[in-house]
Amino acid sequence: MATTVRSKSSKPVAVVTGGAGFLGSHLCDRLLAEGWRVFAVDNFLTGSHDNIAHLGNNSDFVLIEQDVTQYVKVPGPVAFVFHFASPASPIDYAEYPVKTLKAGSLGTHNALGLAKAMKAGFLLASTSEIYGDPLVHPQPESYWGHVNTIGPRGCYDEAKRFAEAITMAYLREDKVHTHIVRIFNTYGPRMRLRDGRVVPAFIGQALRGEPLTVFGDGSQTRSFCFVNDLIEGIWRLSRVDFNEPVNIGNPAEFTIKQFAEMVIKITGAGSSLVYQPLPQDDPKQRKPDITRAKQLLGWQPTIGIEEGLRRTIEYFQPRIGREAARAKA
Ligand code: NAD
Ligand code: UDP
Repeated sequence: MATTVRSKSSKPVAVVTGGAGFLGSHLCDRLLAEGWRVFAVDNFLTGSHDNIAHLGNNSDFVLIEQDVTQYVKVPGPVAFVFHFASPASPIDYAEYPVKTLKAGSLGTHNALGLAKAMKAGFLLASTSEIYGDPLVHPQPESYWGHVNTIGPRGCYDEAKRFAEAITMAYLREDKVHTHIVRIFNTYGPRMRLRDGRVVPAFIGQALRGEPLTVFGDGSQTRSFCFVNDLIEGIWRLSRVDFNEPVNIGNPAEFTIKQFAEMVIKITGAGSSLVYQPLPQDDPKQRKPDITRAKQLLGWQPTIGIEEGLRRTIEYFQPRIGREAARAKA
C-alpha cells in the first residue's frame, strides 16, 4: 500500500472516476464510511445525480463534473485513484463505442497520470469481458481470453484490455502502485432500470407483468455478484500490496433461462418467457475462478442470489410504480 497522503482535514483523499455510476457511487459510500474524503469525477454519460443525491450535504464528498478523457485537475493531496468511468452495459457501449474506447484509453491514461502526479495508489475497474467468449471455464486470472476485436463488444473489451496494459506499464515504468480488479457481472440497487443488463431488464419486465426477453435459447451462463460483496472485495484489494489482476465475482453459475425463472418466482410475477435472437459474440459461459481473491484477500461472496435479488427488487419496485404513474398521467 502506498503511503497514505492526507488532506488538511487529516482524512485520506480518494478520487473515484465514474463516481455517479452504479458501482462508483457504492464505492464512494464505502470510502466515506471508512473515514475518507472523496472527489467523484463524472460526466453523467450513464451515471445519475440520484445515485449521489444522499451525499449532497456531506462535506467530505465533492463532485467534479467533467469528462475523464480531458485533463483531470484535482486539488491535492490525493492518496488513491479508483478508475471506474466507462460505459458498462452492452447497450451503452453499443450506443457510445468511441466514448467507450476513449474512457478505457485516454481516461485510464489521465487517471494514471493523476495517480503518478499525486504519488497516489491506483485501482482499475477491469472486467470479465477481457476474457471474451471464454474457452477456459471457470476463468482464472492466468487465462488470456478469446476476444473478437472487431465485433460489437470489441470497443469495450479492447478498451479494458488496453487499460490493463497501460496500468501495468505505469507500474513498471513510472512505479505507480497499481491494482486491477476484474469484475464479473454485478447487480444491485442504483442500476438503471433500462440499462439493458439482464438483472434490471428481467426485474423490470417481471414487475410490469411483461414477458421476460431471453436472448438465444437461454443456455448461456452468467454468475451474479451482489454489489456489497463486490465493494468489500475492491476495498480489500486496494489495501494490499498486489499488482496483478484479481477476479471478484460470485461463482454461483446459472443459465439465463434458470435466472429468468428465478426472477419470476421471487417477484411472484405471472410473466412468461419470450425468446429473442442472441446478440453477436454474447459469451456462452462465464464464471470467475476466485481462488486468488480467497487466498490474497480472505474474500468470498456472502450474499446469495435470492437475498441479493430481493434487495434489488425492493429498490426497483417503487421506481416501476412511478414509471407506471407517469405513463398514466
Ligand atoms: P455505470 O454506467 O453505472 O457507471 C459508469 C460511470 O462512469 C457513469 O456514472 C458514467 O457517467 C461515468 N462515465 C462514463 N464515461 C465517462 C467519462 N469519459 N468521464 C467521466 N465519467 C464517465 O456502470 P457500472 O456498472 O457502475 O460500471 C462501473 C465500472 O465497473 C466500469 O468501468 C465498468 O466497466 C466496470 N465493470 C462493471 C461491471 C458490472 O457488472 N456492473 C462488470 C465489469 C466491469
Ligand atoms: N440477456 C437476456 N435478456 C435481456 C438482457 C440480457 O437474455 O433482456 C442475456 C444476454 O444475452 C447475456 C446475459 O443475459 O447472455 C447477460 O447480459 P448482460 O447484458 O447483463 O451482461 P453481459 O454479461 O452479457 O455483459
